[in-house]
Amino acid sequence: MPPSLSGQRPAPRSLRPVEYKKGKRRRFDNDDAQLCAQALCLEEMFGIVVDSGAVFHAASKRRRDVEFTKELRQLTENAIAELHTMLNSQLSTINPQLPQAVFKPACEECSLFAICLPKMTSAPTSLQRAARRLFEI
Ligand code: SF4
Repeated sequence: MPPSLSGQRPAPRSLRPVEYKKGKRRRFDNDDAQLCAQALCLEEMFGIVVDSGAVFHAASKRRRDVEFTKELRQLTENAIAELHTMLNSQLSTINPQLPQAVFKPACEECSLFAICLPKMTSAPTSLQRAARRLFEI
């Protein structure tokens, strides 16, 4: 898209976000909600309607079209509202901390699994035992 005379790029007439995933398609809605959140941002930034996007799964080399339905938009907006509530409650405390990760089936397919360690933090006794082993001299 060539820049306009004012040096600013003109607003696009249509946009279609594409999310690239290393793995195969997952059983959960999180990829679709992530893509929908990107669409909501684009709609807000450019004042246009973004009605669909796609997720490309590298493992299967397949692209999956995602329609931003009323239900998916609601699911995404609910997740955003919950995140804002959590952040606001944390920021109002003196010592804000992230909530503990809670292990769920979706965690097994999450790209952050090895960093997040939800099994460890979901099992307080394991966590305490590991912490004792780490920090005992
Ligand atoms: S591994 Fe952590 S970041 Fe990933 S889904 Fe589970 S709790 Fe969330």
